[in-house]
Amino acid sequence: MSEQLRQTCRRLLDEGTVNVVIGYGEAPNGGAAIPVFIRQASDADRLVWNNRCLANLTTYLKRPEIRAMGKAAIVVKGCDARALVVLEKESQLVRENIYVIGMACDGMGDPAEAKCAACDAHTPAGCDEMIGQAGENVSTDERYAELEAFMKLPPAERMAYWQNELARCVKCYACRQVCPLCYCERCIVDKNRPTVIDTASTLKGNFAWAITRAFHLAGRCIGCDECTRACPAGIDLRLLNQSLARAAEESFGYRAGVDPAAEPITGNYARQDEENFIR
Ligand code: SF4
Ligand code: SF4
Ligand code: SF4
Repeated sequence: MSEQLRQTCRRLLDEGTVNVVIGYGEAPNGGAAIPVFIRQASDADRLVWNNRCLANLTTYLKRPEIRAMGKAAIVVKGCDARALVVLEKESQLVRENIYVIGMACDGMGDPAEAKCAACDAHTPAGCDEMIGQAGENVSTDERYAELEAFMKLPPAERMAYWQNELARCVKCYACRQVCPLCYCERCIVDKNRPTVIDTASTLKGNFAWAITRAFHLAGRCIGCDECTRACPAGIDLRLLNQSLARAAEESFGYRAGVDPAAEPITGNYARQDEENFIR
């Protein structure tokens, strides 16, 4: 698949279809693949495809310096492709202005850890070009299995878990920076007249930050897990994200970025919508 990807890259650049290809390159230390921005066909050999292509590259589309490069082709996995759907729905990109290369994906990372078993979109939808054939998608039960087990714990134990996790937050905002859907020009945490969220790393302020961000991503988060991977404190934000994703699915039958025709729940009201969530 790496060679097929390189050929696609050369062709797109040679024919002038795009000005840059955003894909994965080998990390110098052999760790997780790093983003590469290929602007000349002769550099296409730098592209790789393997089970270390963890990053969600769609986050680069929000950056002005990347937009300034011209029309981009972007390499996506199934979860990443869902981010593109959300970004388009939220008027953050014009689909015709990008070229999407979908990579069939059977899960990233160590298969024993199955870090992205939550993915149920191994085959990216709506791509301009597909490379490879993906395996079976996981079921809804499998997707929320970890959350389900956590929710069975007594409330005091769940609280203790989050206190222990969030006590380590250093307010570096890497979780926000890496998230393709955190694109606000001025984030709520940067507002200081008045200060909405305590910027100091206090437990109370850390809770306020994590919960506020999760709510801002409610019905928008596509579950790429980039925020968890980027966190230098090793805080596992997945349960928080999954909890709101499941609420959106159960209350509104909506899953972010899965159906390009579906209206986002945050910008849409239906008379039959339940209001249990505010009770
Ligand atoms: S909140 Fe985390 S898992 Fe959700 S889209 Fe953003 S980076 Fe991905
Ligand atoms: S945390 Fe909220 S305010 Fe900040 S960038 Fe993300 S969505 Fe915007
Ligand atoms: S990346 Fe981790 S440590 Fe940094 S602000 Fe987010 S949760 Fe806190």
